[in-house]
Amino acid sequence: YAREDALGESEAVLVTVRVRPPNPAETHPGSQSSVWETNEWNTQTIKLAKEAIGTRDDREWTFDRILDPMSNNGKAYTTSARTHIRRAMEGYNALIFAYGQTASGKTHTLSGSPSEPGIIPLSIRDLFAQIRSSPDREFLLRASYLELYNEALLDLLSTDGKELSLSEGKKKGEVIVNGLTEIAVRTEEDVKRLLSVGEENRSVGRTDWNSRSSRSHCVFRLVIESRAAGVSDVPVGARTPGGRAKTGGDRTTRISTLSIIDLAGSERHTSSKERNAEGKHINQSLLTLKIVISKLADMASGRNISHIPYRDSKLTRLLQPSLSGDALISVICTVSPSAVNLNESLSTLSFAQGLK
Ligand code: ADP
Ligand code: MG
Repeated sequence: YAREDALGESEAVLVTVRVRPPNPAETHPGSQSSVWETNEWNTQTIKLAKEAIGTRDDREWTFDRILDPMSNNGKAYTTSARTHIRRAMEGYNALIFAYGQTASGKTHTLSGSPSEPGIIPLSIRDLFAQIRSSPDREFLLRASYLELYNEALLDLLSTDGKELSLSEGKKKGEVIVNGLTEIAVRTEEDVKRLLSVGEENRSVGRTDWNSRSSRSHCVFRLVIESRAAGVSDVPVGARTPGGRAKTGGDRTTRISTLSIIDLAGSERHTSSKERNAEGKHINQSLLTLKIVISKLADMASGRNISHIPYRDSKLTRLLQPSLSGDALISVICTVSPSAVNLNESLSTLSFAQGLK
């Protein structure tokens, strides 16, 4: 399972920039979404003209993938998620993040809508299709859904509203989410039901739902266990893959975690209310995430790395077991095409560039 087979070493962290189409308010005459007009779509380069961005020279950025405003979620799935999903099924930990300013398209990309399902439902569909076509392995999938708001971790599949705590497991780097609800899922429908329960719990009783949803990180997790089919009576999931083989063959249980994370809005918080602890938590967790990912990228390309600051934010602590040396990471950075949002978009491009 050499990772290089599928992704290439430089793509231990795959960075995608997705520019969404302008919305009706942004296309009225005189609006300047033309900032993003470029002949370079479909390549890996974005060019912005100096006239449009008010700099002395044109600026140019290169990323692993660029998704132009015409690209749909199906394209986003195949370019930026499919390899990760397939590898998660083979036992690798995989993480897929959406990063960007509020209203730039994170939730559209990950969750989508009934008419245009996003990466989460497309992943689930692909996963179950792969499972159906691999009768030689048996799989157990367990799903959980969490929200991280103001450094408080909440279980979206439970209605008790209690905060979850993290503790260290017995193995090095292991992190346990105490009391987390994990639900075994067998079909695409099971997952859909669970996601809608989660969404409902997330919004229930919250008048500030919109602003809150842009300030919290939302984590969908799937623990994937598999082993060769029909070779022993140790049930998959029994957590004791050891023991003697009855009929031989590869009985090793593979366990991996797939995490898909809709991050809090990356915009700078400028009002006095927002410059409080809440805004600081968001900035701190996104900054720590960037540092951790770029260190992993360094590690994958053989550079020496110093201490990885997982403990500097709850987000990276929660994800630490997956954010390890051989994890497959995809970060989709979403940007608005509007000139009004140019500064935030430039800051998103700079975050994206800093991941490598
Ligand atoms: P975020 O989650 O980053 O705050 P959303 O995903 O909610 O942003 O997107 C804001 C609005 O723009 C939504 O109405 C969404 O449907 C729409 N939108 C975002 N990206 C796209 C896209 N690529 N194509 C079509 N509509 C999009
Ligand atoms: Mg959103």
